[in-house]
Amino acid sequence: MNVEYPYSFEDVFNICKEYVPEKYWSIIEKSYNFALEAHSNQFRKSGEPYILHPVQLAGILAELKLDYATVCAGFLHDVVEDTEYSLDDIKNNFTEDISIIVDGVTKLDKVKYRSKKESQAENHRKLFIAIASDLRVIFVKLADRLHNMRTLKHMKEEKQREISSETLEIYAPLAHRLGISSIKWELEDTSLRYLHPEQYFSIVGMMKQKRSVRIESIKNACDKIIEILEINNISAEVTGRPKHIYSIYKKMQKQNKSFDEIYDLLAVRVLVDSVADCYATLGLVNNMWLPIPGRMKDYIAMPKPNMYQSLHTTILSSTGQPLEVQIRTYEMHEIAEKGIAAHWAYKEGRKVSNKDDFYKKLDWFQKIAEGDDTEATAESFIDSLKVDLLSDKIYVFTPNSDIIELPKGSCIVDFAYAIHSEIGNKMIGAKINDKIVPFDYVLSTGEICDVRTSKISSGPSRDWLNIAKSSQTKSKIKAFFKKAAREENLIKGEILLKDEIKANGFDIDVILTDEAVENVLNRYRYSTIEELYRTIGYGALTANQVFMRLTEKIRKEKQNQEKLERLINAEDTKKITTETGVYVKGVDNILVRLSKCCKPIPGDNIVGFITRGRGVTVHREECPNVINEDNNRLINVEWVDSLHKRDYVVSLQIHAFDRDMLLSNILLKLNESKVVVNKLNSESKADKTCIIDISMLIKNIDECNFIIRKLHQISDVYSVERVVK
Ligand code: MN
Repeated sequence: MNVEYPYSFEDVFNICKEYVPEKYWSIIEKSYNFALEAHSNQFRKSGEPYILHPVQLAGILAELKLDYATVCAGFLHDVVEDTEYSLDDIKNNFTEDISIIVDGVTKLDKVKYRSKKESQAENHRKLFIAIASDLRVIFVKLADRLHNMRTLKHMKEEKQREISSETLEIYAPLAHRLGISSIKWELEDTSLRYLHPEQYFSIVGMMKQKRSVRIESIKNACDKIIEILEINNISAEVTGRPKHIYSIYKKMQKQNKSFDEIYDLLAVRVLVDSVADCYATLGLVNNMWLPIPGRMKDYIAMPKPNMYQSLHTTILSSTGQPLEVQIRTYEMHEIAEKGIAAHWAYKEGRKVSNKDDFYKKLDWFQKIAEGDDTEATAESFIDSLKVDLLSDKIYVFTPNSDIIELPKGSCIVDFAYAIHSEIGNKMIGAKINDKIVPFDYVLSTGEICDVRTSKISSGPSRDWLNIAKSSQTKSKIKAFFKKAAREENLIKGEILLKDEIKANGFDIDVILTDEAVENVLNRYRYSTIEELYRTIGYGALTANQVFMRLTEKIRKEKQNQEKLERLINAEDTKKITTETGVYVKGVDNILVRLSKCCKPIPGDNIVGFITRGRGVTVHREECPNVINEDNNRLINVEWVDSLHKRDYVVSLQIHAFDRDMLLSNILLKLNESKVVVNKLNSESKADKTCIIDISMLIKNIDECNFIIRKLHQISDVYSVERVVK
C-alpha cells in the first residue's frame, strides 16, 4: 500500500456506504467525478495525478465518519482555488451544504500565516474559526493539512520548515481543541520530523533500541490484565499503546529529562463496555501492582475541555519500569480519537442526549450549546455548527499580518487603539485594501487595515468617543484628553502665576526662589511646582493666592521700607504718642525705643534714628552714635509733655575726692530728693580721687538738673555729668 496515497476512490466510497444514508451515495460519486474532470491535467509535486490528493482527504474524512457533505467537499476542496471552475459551478451542481464548505475552504486558503510572534497564533486560530464559520470547513482543512504533511518530503527544505511550523502552531492546536487526537498526533510528529530532524530521529532510534524490552514488558502487563479481567467477568480489549514522538520530545524539553526518565513511554490501553467496568478495572489494576502516587487521573468524572474522558493510572511493572494504564469505554475512545467529529458522527440519526456531558464542555461550543436548547437533533446540531462561531468578535490584519481581535462593530479607531494608544492618538486616517475609509468605517474579519499616523497630529477628535465600539478604546481616548488637559492646565497655571508676579511689580526670579517655592509647596502639600501650576490652571487656587503666599516675607520688608520712606517725607503733624513719651511725625504704630547709649529723658533735645527692621531709636542730639549717621535715616521726634509720667533711667558720673563718708553723703542727698537708685559703682584712683557711676530713675531734665545741682553741693565733689557712651 502506498503510504502517501493509501485510498482509492473505491476505498472511500466503501467506507461511506457503511454509514452514509444511501440517498447521498450518488452525490458522493458525482463530486468525485467532478473533481476528477476539473483536476484532469494537474499533477502533484511528486508526479502523481492531482485527483489522488482530494481522494485521500475524502478518505480521512470518511474514516472520521463525517457527513456526506464534508466528504464531498473533501473531493471538491481545491476545485475553486486551483481549476477553472468557480464557486457558482459548485453551487449549480451540488447542495448548499457542500458549496458552503468549499467556499469556506477556499477563503481559508487565502489567509496566510506569516507572523512569527507566538502571541499571534491564538488569534490566528480564532480567525480560522471565524472565517470558516462552519466547523466542517475546519475538518476539511485539517484533513488537507494532514495529507500535505504526509507528502511534505517532495517540497523544498525551506517550504517544509515553513509549513511544519504553521502546522505545529495553528493546525495541531486546532485538532487538539476539537479533540481529534488521531490527527493532532500525526501533525505534531510529522512537523517535528521536519523542524527538528536530529531530535526526532534520535527519539525514534531510542524507541527502537528499547523496543524488545518494552514489548515484553507491555505484553507481560497486558496478559496479566486480560487474565484478571476474565476472572472478574469484564470483557475488554487490551492493547499496548504506541507513544507519540512529539509528546516525548516535549516532555524531554519541558522537564529537561533524558529519554529513560520519561515515565509513560510504556502504556497500555484497556477498552471496556461501561463506566462501571472502567472503575472496576482501575481497582483490579491498582491492586495487582504498586500504583505510583499522584499519577492517578479521573478524566471520567472531570473530562478535559476537549471532551476527553478516561481513567489514568501509572503502576510499577514487574520489570521495575513505570507503566501507564489508560482505561475507558469504547465510546470514550472514539471521542478521544476523533473528538467533536466523533460525537457528531456517533449521534448521527439519533437524538442527542445528555449533551451537557459533551460539547458543552468544549470551550468553543459553549455558546452554541447555550443557544441551542430547542429540539436537539443531529440536524440542529449541524445547523449550530454553521453559525458564526465567534459572532461577537472580528479579526483584522495589520499590514504586517498581525491579527487584531476586536468586538464586532469596531471601526478603524478601535483598530488603531488596539494596536497601541500612541497609534490611535496620532491616527489621521486608514486604508482598507488600499482605499482610504472614513473614521467610522466598520471593519470585518479578514480585512487588512493600514493605519496612517502623523507626528504632528494634535490627537484624537472628541467625535471618536461616539464612533468607537469598544470601551477600551473609549477609555484610551478619554485618557488622552485628561492628559492633554493636565498639560494645558500646567501651561496655563504657570502663565497665570508669572503674570500675577509681574503685574505686582516684582521680578519673577526674585519671587520664585527655591526657598519661597518650597515654602508654598509645603503649605499647600504639593510635591512639585507642576502640581501647583496645574491647580492654578484649573482654578482650584488663584494666582493671587499663591502670589501672596510666595511674597509674604518680601512684602513685609517692602512695607517697612515704604513706611520709612513715608516717615522721612512726612508732612503730617498728627501726634502719635508712645509709651516712651516720644512721638514720631506722621507715623502710627511704629516701634519707638529709647537708646541705651545716651538714655534720653524728657526735656533733652532728641532725634530719631531709623533702624533696619527694628523701628526708630531715640537718641539725644549730642549722642556721638548719631552725629555721624546718614541724615536720610534721621527723623524728627518730640517729647509729649503731658504723657511722660513714667520714670527714665539716667546715668550720672561723679568725680570726687576719695574720703570717708562720701558715698553715704551722696545716697543721703538722693534719698532727700526721693530718687530711686538702681545701680552704683565706685572706683578708687591712685591719686586719692574716685569715679562713682550711678544710675537712677527720674522724671525729666528739670529733675535731672536739680539732682546734679544737689550733688554738686556735697563737699569734695569735683564734677557731676550725664553719661553718653
Ligand atoms: Mn488541498
